[in-house]
Amino acid sequence: MQVRVANPQFNRPGVWAFEQPQYFDYEGEEVKLKWTSPNQLALSTGNPEWPVRIIARNHIVAIDNVAFTQQVSAANTKVVKGSKGETYVVTGNTCTCPGFTFRKTCKHL
Ligand SMILES: [Zn+2]
Repeated sequence: MQVRVANPQFNRPGVWAFEQPQYFDYEGEEVKLKWTSPNQLALSTGNPEWPVRIIARNHIVAIDNVAFTQQVSAANTKVVKGSKGETYVVTGNTCTCPGFTFRKTCKHL
């Protein structure tokens, strides 16, 4: 999945000598770790020296180009895999999968 994270250093004129990007885009798979809190997302990096990136969920602005707001990006958002390996984002009682889009209900909720 692709995760877009807001850069907390963005738009702080005078603090940084060069322009800071507004977002960072990370690519990886969600990793289940025992020590992360529900407010953190562990994403694989593909780098063996540093295999997992920990992301604060309230900094996430989009997953797989599905944008969501700060309020719903907290612990009530989860990423699920469809039967064909697709990635869907479940937020509260909505889901980005085609089943929910057409029927307003699906097995991910
Ligand atoms: Zn669904």
